[in-house]
Amino acid sequence: MNYNWCHSPKCHTYKTQDRVRGSKGSKVLRTRKIKQHTDRSWYSPDSIYNYFCSEGCIRDFWNTYAQRVIALAPMNEPLETPIDDPTKEKVTTSWGHTYYNHTINLRGVDTTE
Ligand SMILES: [Zn+2]
Repeated sequence: MNYNWCHSPKCHTYKTQDRVRGSKGSKVLRTRKIKQHTDRSWYSPDSIYNYFCSEGCIRDFWNTYAQRVIALAPMNEPLETPIDDPTKEKVTTSWGHTYYNHTINLRGVDTTE
């Protein structure tokens, strides 16, 4: 069975029963294993959940390595997605309540550039 170890630097410090390993007198808390279902069609090698056992462990990793992770793909300017002018449609229900439907459509192939 393929697996990864959770990548949180603190995973092995959390006191849960499933992390307890070792024989009597020399017990430890061990980093969790994460099964990798590489034979499944839905398996995605880049999924964050292949590398972390919990949201807390994701946060631990981020809070420890954020600057190094960001350095892999810095975002120094905003990205933009071309759209058509948004439309706003006023809707009045049969009982007199009013709300607006906002529609944002992605622009088709942009030939202006
Ligand atoms: Zn973990």
